[in-house]
Amino acid sequence: MPELSKKLLKEMNKQIQEEIYSAYLYYQMSAYFENGNLPGFGHWMRAQGMEEVTHAQKFFTHILERGGKVELLAIAKPQTTWDSPTAAFEDALAHEVHITGRIHKLMKIARDEGDFAAEMGILNWFVDEQIEEEVSVGEVLDKLNLIEDNKNGLYMLDKEMASRIFTLNPAITW
Ligand code: MG
Repeated sequence: MPELSKKLLKEMNKQIQEEIYSAYLYYQMSAYFENGNLPGFGHWMRAQGMEEVTHAQKFFTHILERGGKVELLAIAKPQTTWDSPTAAFEDALAHEVHITGRIHKLMKIARDEGDFAAEMGILNWFVDEQIEEEVSVGEVLDKLNLIEDNKNGLYMLDKEMASRIFTLNPAITW
């Protein structure tokens, strides 16, 4: 297995930061929802945050398996509040679109370098995962847009959001 190039190593370390920031952002959104008496949304965002930590861990593991040096970078402070649940989910979707762009950038570098271990060993999985992430966040946003400011609808949707179960993805190597 070839060594990770300097360029790919740098971008993978940056991706650990991006994924941990994602967790940070979603935990902050979770607190926003809990404070706003929407515990189902809060629970959903907490599960989302947990999942992001596993994403960071997947890059962490890959770097180490390739004999690379993990370098943890500083994590920025997310904003602390949103105007509405819809505004929070709009931000979540925009953030996932940004992450998809990052993954595609990593894939492009791996392909340009002929790094098949990075492409098949980790990045393929993330390309698929990002499709799911955008779809799942987008579905919640569609429902929020459908109910608009209807309080009954929001109450029902909150109940639905509470049913999300976080399970560790077996593709994550610990
Ligand atoms: Mg992620």
